[in-house]
Amino acid sequence: MAEHFNVVEEFGVDVFNEETMKQRLPKNVFKTLKKTIAEGKELDSSIADVVASAMKDWAIEKGATHYTHWFQPMTGITAEKHDSFISPAGDGTVIMEFSGKELIKGEPDASSFPSGGIRATFEARGYTAWDPTSYAFVKDGSLYIPTAFYSYSGEALDKKTPLLRSMDVVSEQALRILRLFGNTTSKRVVATVGAEQEYFLVDKKTYDKRKDLIFTGRTLFGAPAPKGQELEDHYFGSIKQRVSDYMKDLDEHLWKLGITSKTKHNEVAPAQHENAPIFAPANLATDQNQLTMELMKKIALEHGLVCLLHEKPFAGINGSGKHDNWSLSTDDGQNLLDPGNSPMENAQFLTFLAAIIRSVDEYAELLRLSVASAGNDHRLGANEAPPAIISIFLGEELEAVVNALVDGTDYTSKSGTMFNVGVSSLPSFPKDTTDRNRTSPFAFTGNKFEFRMCGSNLNIAGPNTVLNTIVADSLKLFADELEKADDFQTALHDLLVKTIKEHRRVIFNGNGYGAEWPVEAEKRGLPNLKSTVAAVPCITDKKSVELFTKFGVYSEVELHARQEINYENYSKTINIEALTTSDMAKTEILPAVMKYAKDICDIAASKKAVGVDPAVEVSIANKVNTLTVSLNEKIDVLNAAIVKAQGISDIPEQAKVYCDEVFVAMQSLRAVADELETIVGEEYWPFPTYDELLFNV
Ligand code: ADP
Ligand code: MG
Repeated sequence: MAEHFNVVEEFGVDVFNEETMKQRLPKNVFKTLKKTIAEGKELDSSIADVVASAMKDWAIEKGATHYTHWFQPMTGITAEKHDSFISPAGDGTVIMEFSGKELIKGEPDASSFPSGGIRATFEARGYTAWDPTSYAFVKDGSLYIPTAFYSYSGEALDKKTPLLRSMDVVSEQALRILRLFGNTTSKRVVATVGAEQEYFLVDKKTYDKRKDLIFTGRTLFGAPAPKGQELEDHYFGSIKQRVSDYMKDLDEHLWKLGITSKTKHNEVAPAQHENAPIFAPANLATDQNQLTMELMKKIALEHGLVCLLHEKPFAGINGSGKHDNWSLSTDDGQNLLDPGNSPMENAQFLTFLAAIIRSVDEYAELLRLSVASAGNDHRLGANEAPPAIISIFLGEELEAVVNALVDGTDYTSKSGTMFNVGVSSLPSFPKDTTDRNRTSPFAFTGNKFEFRMCGSNLNIAGPNTVLNTIVADSLKLFADELEKADDFQTALHDLLVKTIKEHRRVIFNGNGYGAEWPVEAEKRGLPNLKSTVAAVPCITDKKSVELFTKFGVYSEVELHARQEINYENYSKTINIEALTTSDMAKTEILPAVMKYAKDICDIAASKKAVGVDPAVEVSIANKVNTLTVSLNEKIDVLNAAIVKAQGISDIPEQAKVYCDEVFVAMQSLRAVADELETIVGEEYWPFPTYDELLFNV
């Protein structure tokens, strides 16, 4: 029996968190550091040595021998390079050392990380800088220091730097609005995020027999199992012992690292599960989500399982998303998306709401782009996930308030009717009691928005950078106008009405998965960018460049670099998938079906020899033969498409060919192979089928 795990005692034991800092740092140093953290400022170099030394002593007590600057390059996963604390003492012995300089700045050899050409044109060096607002932690014998990663000339080479910049930007603009509403005390507005993480678990032994899972993280072949998710018996179903043991182990690891893992349950698809933490500031939530994904995979292996974080590991059943719950909160604890009780509080809430509505409508393409990847293309537009169209769900109550305000009509709720709704007479609106809309990509859920388009594999820094920046843009527009108004109430009223009128088209409370919605959305003029390749161009259009450079979140050089990286990631992903498809078809499926055909023909021949009618065998053999011929042709078509795509040097053009030709050829080949799977004898099939993958854990 494992020992009883005391959550309260064990929570955050491996984190150099505020409590530990307080215990271990001199009072004045602690105060300075805390101020740095609270205000998102840079670390005062005068205290760095003291902090570093305390961190090192603490880490060594936890068994650490090394430290690493931990960063989030454009690969989408995290990176680390470990240095030990040892330093020669001059007499053949060593001492353990860690300086403030080493804490604050690192210089990893950065030449192999994707930079979108940035390092080629400047200098190959990259630097990492401590983000003191995200706690350091000890894991596997190393002290991990969360950092931002940038080039010699200051360009961001990671996902974290723009996120941190965007958090500053949205804070600054939101504070301007708060001041207008009489708030004189808040010093910072923090973007808060809670990421609900979906994943699949499959048995390691089954996984190991599938090259597609090993090389691409998803199945490139597979006919549907007789049972899918149609009974909806898996969602919130009782958790199997093996999965439950895994979840418990995962929780304990997460808690030790100070990650507030809160909710776990089975998801809709068989073998699919979810883990959600309690929300945190966006940068911390991002770091913690990256760590969570890493631990999910690592701990699964210890349980003989493999955790699949691909957005669509299996065709025909739900893919995995990551709901990005987002809000804004003051440093003194007020959630700005929590409607209040007084008209004034409600007016402030509606101001932020109107700003968000404008932002999401105005910059829908950027939001769409922020979740674009080859893997997520399978989800967006497919029937179980938000479509690629961005719309906002407000809920009945809130929509009624907004409509009444804009149309100058009365607002009726269960508690009665309010006449002539204006900002000075806003009713306190009851909590929404209507059913959750689960089909909206951007849904208001009472005191936060839930951005549901993110794929399970995504680093959430990207979408949150966009969210923070586009909302800052609207808040700035509002503040510019309201600060110069003589009559605040009237100016606010007019501004809200005008903004919502202009951007109302993005509000949609209906069924986002219905066939009518894309038609309706097109009438409203809402963009519907169905693939990554269609979404990527917008990152460098005039409007995006103006937005991001105005706030200093991305420079124009950084935007172009990111565009290139996006295209390249896409092309590389499809290339690997295509090569794996071709290889499996040629070297596994073809030989298997030929063997099956031969055995059937042998039976037919022996039947015929004794005068028995071999009609069934002949019929099956013919069918297999027709499909085999087709499969062979499709392998050739796919290979030709791969060669064509690989030969294109223009990056956007190449991505387009991967999307329009290579991917299409893969799908077409798969269809034939999947049909063969349903005919060929089970023991002939060369790798585990969907039944085995989805139902044997
Ligand atoms: P729901 O039932 O709407 O999914 P939960 O309370 O389970 O609501 O929350 C889902 C996620 O949203 C959790 O990770 C939670 O911590 C997060 N969340 C709640 N409030 C906020 C907020 N103000 N800002 C950001 N995330 C939040
Ligand atoms: Mg939710």
